[in-house]
Amino acid sequence: MHRLNARPIGTQPWQSKGMALKQSVRLATILVCFLSAAGLAPAQPTHKTENVIVVMMDGMRWQEVFRGADADLIKTPPANLPDGDQRVALAKKAYGRETQAQRRAALMPFLWSVVATEGQVFGNRDLGSDSHVTNGLNFSYPGYSETITGVADPRVHSNDNVPNPNVNVFEWLNQKPAFAGKVAVFGAWDTFTGIFNQQRSGLLINDGYAPFTGLPGNPRIELLNALKAATPRYWLDEPFDAVAFYTAIEYVKTAKPRLLFIGLGETDDWAHAGEYAEYLNAAHLGDSFLSQLWDLVQSMPEYRGKTTLIVLPDHGRGEGAKWTDHGEKIPESMQTWMAFLGPDTPSLGERKNSSPVTESQIAATIAALLGEDYRAAYPKAGAAIADVLQK
Ligand SMILES: [Zn+2]
Repeated sequence: MHRLNARPIGTQPWQSKGMALKQSVRLATILVCFLSAAGLAPAQPTHKTENVIVVMMDGMRWQEVFRGADADLIKTPPANLPDGDQRVALAKKAYGRETQAQRRAALMPFLWSVVATEGQVFGNRDLGSDSHVTNGLNFSYPGYSETITGVADPRVHSNDNVPNPNVNVFEWLNQKPAFAGKVAVFGAWDTFTGIFNQQRSGLLINDGYAPFTGLPGNPRIELLNALKAATPRYWLDEPFDAVAFYTAIEYVKTAKPRLLFIGLGETDDWAHAGEYAEYLNAAHLGDSFLSQLWDLVQSMPEYRGKTTLIVLPDHGRGEGAKWTDHGEKIPESMQTWMAFLGPDTPSLGERKNSSPVTESQIAATIAALLGEDYRAAYPKAGAAIADVLQK
């Protein structure tokens, strides 16, 4: 039998679908008002995010994120690494393209295919979108500190591994029963223990060349620890990013933290060394880490559809010949970028002519995504970024 007049269940023949919906909404509203008056209304969920993952790419410039590999810099032979001509040729093949859209997609394919379509990316100054640090120093410790505490504190003015005087949002959430023991920090740079003040915060932090002891008996962690100990130390304060990243991945699979920080350092290190090809490779690798991480969390019921990913650097770098450096004397190195992907972030893509956003807003944004009000505890912190919070 053909049902010529099929209609949604519960709809009267004289009702359109829209009318039925309006009626249902009216009934629901009446019910909520009634329950509310009786003090029985359930809390209205304002966010879907239950987990937040923050990935920071040290000193990654907005210029490469939005414009792709620089056509002049890519020709620069390596300053010190062997096989210079080959490295330049490989970088050109991997990241050199005709158009800006092709170049940036070749450099950071996950960012441009997934985050920029399903989430939001701020910081393309060519399109009137400004993202920056407010600390005035434009180097790492102050940048990370501003990001995780919400304030640019003048007492935070060096990269020394000293305990941060300020409480950060990771520590603050870890003190709440819903997050206790569900917060973790992994980073290549050995200074995260100080930036997150492990002494005071008691957070689970694994950084630098320290072996990870938080998953005893895990053979993959044992191998990662062995590689960390046995690989030549190209930089004395951090191993290559892959070790920190895959240690974090093992932790996600096993312990399922609700709030996770991953700090990648190679982009900054290679840039300081003047190795443009390796700087691009580090950015490309970082993007593949984001993709692997996102695939992993979408495969796990604890994370799927309820996890927000935030990606940003701790500072920018100079323009032109000054691309290797950053700091107080290079004002443009205050310029950053930031990306958001998750169930509460409207899919506005690459932002154009947007209100400026600052790294000091990240702490409150993390808390707001998780339904918490960080500024109620720390009023000096930057306000949560409203544009990434409603869907
Ligand atoms: Zn640096």
